[in-house]
Amino acid sequence: MVSLNDSVSELAGVGPKRAQALKSLDIENVNDLLTYFPFRYEDLQAKDPTELTDQAKVTLKGTVAAAPVISRFGRRKTRLNFRLLLDEHTIIPVTFFNQPWLKDKLEVGNELAVYGRFDAKRQSLAGMKIIASTDDGGGMGSIYPANKEVRQATIQKLVESAYDAYEPVIVDLIPEPLREQYRLLHRRQMIHDMHFPAGDAAAQAARRTAKFEEFYLFETRLQIVKQQDHTLHGQALTYDLPKLKDFIASLPYELTDAQKRVVNEICYDLKRPVHMNRLLQGDVGSGKTVVAAVAMYAAITAGTQAALMAPTEILAEQHANNLAKLFADFPVNVALLTGATKPAARKTLLPQIANGAVNLIVGTHALIQPEVAYHDLGLAVIDEQHRFGVNQRQALREKGQQPDVLAMTATPIPRTLAITAYGEMDVSVINELPAGRQPIKTSWIRSNQVDSTLRQVKAELSSGSQAYVVTPLIEESEAVDMKNAEAIYERFKEQFEPTYKVGLLHGRMKNDEKNAVMDAFKANEFQVLVATTVIEVGVDVPNATVMLIYDADHFGLAQLHQLRGRVGRGKKASACILIADPKNELAVERMTTMTSTNDGFVLSQKDLELRGPGDILGKKQSGVPDFKVGDPVADLNILSAAQQAAKETVASPDWADKDANLALAAFLSTTAHQNTTMD
Ligand code: ADP
Ligand code: MG
Repeated sequence: MVSLNDSVSELAGVGPKRAQALKSLDIENVNDLLTYFPFRYEDLQAKDPTELTDQAKVTLKGTVAAAPVISRFGRRKTRLNFRLLLDEHTIIPVTFFNQPWLKDKLEVGNELAVYGRFDAKRQSLAGMKIIASTDDGGGMGSIYPANKEVRQATIQKLVESAYDAYEPVIVDLIPEPLREQYRLLHRRQMIHDMHFPAGDAAAQAARRTAKFEEFYLFETRLQIVKQQDHTLHGQALTYDLPKLKDFIASLPYELTDAQKRVVNEICYDLKRPVHMNRLLQGDVGSGKTVVAAVAMYAAITAGTQAALMAPTEILAEQHANNLAKLFADFPVNVALLTGATKPAARKTLLPQIANGAVNLIVGTHALIQPEVAYHDLGLAVIDEQHRFGVNQRQALREKGQQPDVLAMTATPIPRTLAITAYGEMDVSVINELPAGRQPIKTSWIRSNQVDSTLRQVKAELSSGSQAYVVTPLIEESEAVDMKNAEAIYERFKEQFEPTYKVGLLHGRMKNDEKNAVMDAFKANEFQVLVATTVIEVGVDVPNATVMLIYDADHFGLAQLHQLRGRVGRGKKASACILIADPKNELAVERMTTMTSTNDGFVLSQKDLELRGPGDILGKKQSGVPDFKVGDPVADLNILSAAQQAAKETVASPDWADKDANLALAAFLSTTAHQNTTMD
């Protein structure tokens, strides 16, 4: 019996060579081919030229009025001209480039239709294709993404013959009740109308169903993975609630309601014998670190170890210091392990990690090196998780006995990405800042206005505050970044010293140097810190209330928001000044967006629209799968509906046995390629 899983080599005209070529388009079986959809259609319905204004691609019908003339130009280029009589009054010139062989089809008196670009002003047609008039030709011509190995015409022919041969075995994958609820086409009709639509309306209806189906299949797979992840493994961490309460009571402030809520969500997961895979999302300054501290202490009171992985050494060290302070009166041994840890220290530390003598390990990706063996890792926390690659996050998950994982991010994740890239994680959101925070006032100035701004900075400093100055970012070269930073450092020294002291921080400095600078700035030993983007993540100096960002237009919104989040962390009002002479519209839009909102969620949605998912989630891997017809940003409504539908489908454990789901279950179990991202 034939099935859509049949290899394309079963089709007439597909030998090993062509099968190989089709593979370059990701087409291996008949289903791949039938869901290899056109990206646009040519309107082959003949048009009345008097109704056309402007330039448009159209089909015009007529009679060849004068024999074609071929002329040559350039090297090997030809131009074929003839006249087409459209009706009794209108004759237009038609030109074809580099298709001299068409001459044979163009005898005077022949009736035909020509598809091409019509220029209404000049009343001329640049021909692209000739359609014999006897051919009823009408309707829509499907145009497929093709490449050098597989040409357009080949795809068209193969799709046609595949549809003819396999039409009877195309069955609905979306269960009938859902298909009706969302008013979708039957799969057979959808596939037919995607390839051979009768007109625009049919094509659009088919496309809507095709998008829904694509998202729905993706989401169903994701939900299945999520269910398995929950039930397969996982340790139940029986933490000591009274001890946890003591720790929370010892904090120098009360947790916000949002912090309390997410602490509860996390602790509930820890206690269950399921494998936690939770994303903790909270705007910069919302207080994620202390939430992580509570969760890690919970794991420790359950007798296991906890680890916290941060993207930079500065941040890891800051966390280690803060945590050591928070846990000073508690039975927690904090250790720091980074690439900068000296060999001797490392040599004593590794056995302590392996035998459980230290129970809270803070570090960079040094934590996931193969030599680092844990005694009993119960909880792994990843700070600023979008700065890590998928593999690094995975490696931490695989340490020890499958620890529960809490991934933290300050970049609010737009719905599109929450559904696709993070669909298999549970999400907790801290949607509230600690009390008493004042909104950061952001302004944008041109580089020739810097002088007046420096007066504003001095005024802030004279009231006892501190300032950051972020220097230009030249993507290609750390060396150039450093030079820029040094030049600006010199300028600020001239301007501010001796009244105020100025410090410098850049990526090329040794770690001890960096740490010394950060510590001195924290201790207010100097008041102005000139820095490259090393300070981007997590650095916490509440007394800093002004930030100046040079060449702000070189940064993305998410990154600017992160930078800006270094101020506004205390009770005083803060300001962020963007210095930029943007060169294009998009950059102007980024600047005005920054000055108009402090809401990280709004910004990341905007960033997603302006720059795409890669820039939000980090260059390494956005984790958003490549969909064929659906666009997860533009088609968010369909995506959300499909997610909802998929959740309903797999909600009950015996979903695959239900009649309405049989075809879907069979399809999912036989399709090898999965585009679910396992994160
Ligand atoms: P982020 O979420 O950006 O990582 P942090 O965890 O660094 O934020 O917290 C930002 C600042 O807010 C820190 O100085 C922290 O001590 C403080 N903080 C955290 N929670 C509270 C709270 N509930 N009340 C007051 N200050 C808090
Ligand atoms: Mg943080």
